[in-house]
Amino acid sequence: MHRKSDRLIATDTSSISRRGFLLSAGLLGTAAWLSPGDLFGQETDVVAMIRADAAKSEIKVQPLRRNISALIGSGGNVAVLTGADGKLLIDAGIAVSRPRISAALTGISAKPIRHLINTHWHFDHTGGNDWLHAAGASITAHANTRKHLSVATRVEGWKTTFPAAPGGALPTTVFMTSCAMHVNDESIALQRYEPAHTDADISVRFEAADVLHVGDTWWNGLYPFIDYSTGGSIDGTIRAAEANVAAAGPATIVVPGHGPVGDRAGLIEFRDMLVAIRERVAALKKRGMSLEESVAAKPTASYDAKWGDFPMDGRKFTALVYAGV
Ligand SMILES: [Zn+2]
Repeated sequence: MHRKSDRLIATDTSSISRRGFLLSAGLLGTAAWLSPGDLFGQETDVVAMIRADAAKSEIKVQPLRRNISALIGSGGNVAVLTGADGKLLIDAGIAVSRPRISAALTGISAKPIRHLINTHWHFDHTGGNDWLHAAGASITAHANTRKHLSVATRVEGWKTTFPAAPGGALPTTVFMTSCAMHVNDESIALQRYEPAHTDADISVRFEAADVLHVGDTWWNGLYPFIDYSTGGSIDGTIRAAEANVAAAGPATIVVPGHGPVGDRAGLIEFRDMLVAIRERVAALKKRGMSLEESVAAKPTASYDAKWGDFPMDGRKFTALVYAGV
């Protein structure tokens, strides 16, 4: 047991130093992370770490196409459409990023903030809802986003219970399957996924610009977190990845929830990675291997160098997949 702990320390230290994140000692003591409900160890508060990182992060503005830009650096990637009708945002970032997101928005144009769309309910995509609503934005989302934000909601994979959001942070317009908006000479198509990363995921397509925001159904270059507590699953995540490949054309600019802006080829690579790891983990489980034995077999090994950075290394992703096969 002691030797195993030493090995965990070595692995964690090398992955931390790549990105500069400081993980607390919680990961290092025991194999507590092996429980699917305890992926990040007993004392590691990954939500607090993500918030602390966002508090320090600069917001990078990346022009995409026509009057659409991405804001990168506050949790989930934000997309901004600007024009005579005012600004429309997809996702709100983390609350602590408000001063830097405000400055970035002002740098794009002087137009007022009129609309906000949430791709799902997670804090790193809705944390700015309250202040953006106060600044003038209506908020549109899947009905389950409003449902989860309205009450205290537990995410076991993060070991965190999020309190009910204030009234101003709740979506003002919700839908179940699809929704269309017409803003700044753009037709904007909102489409739900079957439960994937959560049960509240939607994609948002700017038709004329051919820009597609897929929220956390795509983590470009990172293993995805899957929130089983609010309806996510590995198989739903794979189905959403298939839907994204089908929805993207050769010139489509695709904005992931996390990682750099990409394209259809990147969606295919992500889908193929998910399918391969799911098959490997399912085969181990079918042979009767426990979670700990499956993790020790390193079914993600050939993918870890590319996809295994913070917050999801190969062991944690293996545990997430194991829980769903
Ligand atoms: Zn998410």
